Parts: sequence; C-alpha cells; structure tokens
Amino acid sequence: MGDVIRTERLFKRFGKTQTPAVDGVSLLVGRGEIYGFLGLNGAGKTTTIRMLLGMIRPDSGASYLLGKKVSAGRTEVWTKVGYMVETPYSYPELTVRENLELVRRLRRIADVRAIDAVLEKLQLTPYRDRKAKNLSLGNAQRLGLAKALIHKPEILILDEPTNGLDPAGIVEIRELLRELAAEHGVTIFLSSHLLGEVTKLATRIGIVHRGRLVRETDVGELQRDLQKSLLVNTRDAEAARVKLTEAGYRVERTAEGAMALTGGSAIARPESVARLLVQANLPPTLLKVQEEDLETYFLRTIGMEGGAEIS
Ligand code: ATP
Repeated sequence: MGDVIRTERLFKRFGKTQTPAVDGVSLLVGRGEIYGFLGLNGAGKTTTIRMLLGMIRPDSGASYLLGKKVSAGRTEVWTKVGYMVETPYSYPELTVRENLELVRRLRRIADVRAIDAVLEKLQLTPYRDRKAKNLSLGNAQRLGLAKALIHKPEILILDEPTNGLDPAGIVEIRELLRELAAEHGVTIFLSSHLLGEVTKLATRIGIVHRGRLVRETDVGELQRDLQKSLLVNTRDAEAARVKLTEAGYRVERTAEGAMALTGGSAIARPESVARLLVQANLPPTLLKVQEEDLETYFLRTIGMEGGAEIS
C-alpha cells in the first residue's frame, strides 16, 4: 500500500448540531504529493486534520498515516509526522531558539545543529534571540513551521500555513514546501481557503464543503475549470464599456466600478484591448487577468449543481 495518508469515511458531529463538521471524508495521498485541502471557513478542514493526527476521535471512520491506523495514544508514527494546526502556539517568554530547543528535546533529536539548520531554512536566524511574544505574525508562523520541520518528517500536515504572512513570505514558504516535496520526497497535506494560493503549489486538490469532500481533481484540471476574466478600468468606465461592447467584447461591470471582460479573446490578447482603448482616448488605468476565487467558483459550480448555499 503506497498511500502515505489515507482516511476512510471520517465522520464527526460536535454535540447535537444538525450538520456534521465532517461527513464521510475519504482521502488518499501518495508519497511526495502536495495535497491542497480547500474549503471556506467552517467547511471542516481543521476538524479533518485533527482526526488525521489523532488529536480528536472521529465518531466513525478511520485514518492511516504510513499505513498505520491513527488512534489517540498511539505515538510511534508521530516521529515521522510534522504538523501545524491553526495558530501555532509557542512559549511567549522564551526566545525563538529556546522554543526550538524545547521541541528538539521533546522529539529526542540528538544533533543540536538541527536548531541552526531549521532557523536558517525558515530565515529565522536574525530573530533567534527574540522572545516569541515579540514576533510578527509572519515570523510566529515561521516558528510554527520550524517546529513542524525540525525532525525532518516524512509527512507534513499544515493548517492554513501562510496565515499572517506577507506576499513575499508566502512565496518563500511555497518554495520551501515545493523543495521539501520534490527533493526530499516529503508528503505535504495543507489546508487553505485561498484557491489561488493552493493552485500554485498543490499537485492534487480536494474541496470540502459543509463537511463533505465535494470534488477531488488534479490541479491542472481545476485550473482549466477556473473562469478567467480581464479586469479593465479607465477614467471613464462607461465610455470604455460602450467602446468595448461595440468592438464585440463581453463586458460586465464589477462591484468596484471596473469592467470584467470574460471572452477568450480578451484574456488571450489583453494588448488588443489596451490598444483599442488608447486609440479611443481612454487609456487603461487597470489591465489584469484574474482567476475567480473559491467563493465564485463554488457559486458557479458546486453551489449550482448541489443547490448548496454558501454561508
Ligand atoms: P476554519 O478555516 O474557519 O477553521 P474549517 O474548515 O477548518 O474552518 P472546522 O474548524 O473544521 O472548519 O469547523 C467545521 C464546523 O465544526 C464549524 O461549523 C465549526 O463551528 C464546528 N466546530 C469545530 N470545532 C468545534 C468544537 N470543538 N465544538 C463545536 N463545534 C465545532
């Protein structure tokens, strides 16, 4: 059995709530894969991950890591797993280095150089002597990742790993995760509510909605499915709308007052749109190809198919 992560019909209901938090989620993730677990807030991502790690017990169903069944108290598999679930907790009065030293001891890692190596990897060396409570949100997140990585796990399970990071930090973490998967064969399972972010990194995607796995695809397929539009604006949006419509473009006004052109020709040749506007003395102030986000994708596909409301 080559699956590194497997869940079988995981089910969890909290108290007497009507809708289960997780409702029959079965997943398979192979070695070296980067699996993006996508869902809106409250969709059931964190609860699934907690069950996957044995932090909470499912009402029914089971999960397996490296072929071994996960259950509370069964800790041997944890030596091969790194995880970060929700906002990572660190001891606020201890420095970055001291926090990592604690994890090193807990994990019984003999080599003290593991700390410097992971500090370097996460670009935390300049902050090594700073107390955790004085870290920026992004660096606190990096420290969380450092703790998840210090023992060089085979599996990395991350809940919204780029929370709080700025765009440069997001790129950096993406590169790091990509390298771990490609060069070290680490299997990565990460959750997010940001479709654009996950499609840049994951090889396979599972979409969870109201506790159910509603779609599983490889990332190329999802990207082909995503609707793209060319966002355009000028100083006189109405005049530009008339001009573009006359030229045969399909134009919709956006809530922000700009225009979205949805036809294939606009997306393939944005420069033609720019030229037309310049010639009409309406030079563009905005010209950008944009992919739809998770909410819009839901409304257009899953929401319509299943009649599910987005809440
Ligand atoms: P988020 O990104 O907001 O954390 P999520 O997709 O991770 O969302 P979960 O945190 O798994 O979603 O929550 C799924 C549902 O279960 C939500 O309706 C949530 O309110 C509920 N829930 C989660 N944990 C508990 C708990 N300990 N007690 C009661 N309800 C809970």
